[in-house]
Amino acid sequence: MTECIFCQLIAEPGRTKFLLEDDVGVAFNDINPQAPTHVLVVPKRHIASAKELGEHDAALFGHLMGLCQQVTSLTGIREAGYRYVLNTGDNGGQTVNHLHFHVLGGRQMKWPPG
Ligand code: 5GP
Ligand code: ZN
Repeated sequence: MTECIFCQLIAEPGRTKFLLEDDVGVAFNDINPQAPTHVLVVPKRHIASAKELGEHDAALFGHLMGLCQQVTSLTGIREAGYRYVLNTGDNGGQTVNHLHFHVLGGRQMKWPPG
């Protein structure tokens, strides 16, 4: 059994409610939301982080971006604005080593990020 929490979550239907699912990825609510809307968009294929992505992953990356866009519509945050976050590596604040976008919205975001 994989030790990756997101691979486990994807492999066990019913364990987590998916807002979206297709052949490439899934979207589900973050367990510890940092905004009224906080959804994670995750590829089904295990990719440790954005560090592993290259030019040959352009189609995958574009597809995940499309899922993020669908999430902003589904959750009603599209019009007011939102933030996509892709934490990468230790300094990037990544805590789960399976590539994922955060889709955050429903409140005013601050800059610079912490
Ligand atoms: P990172 O810090 O790697 O960018 O983001 C990991 C995110 O995954 C965190 O926001 C954390 O709350 C979320 N998370 C960790 N474990 C689980 C889980 O088992 N289920 C869900 N839904 N979210 C999780
Ligand atoms: Zn994984």
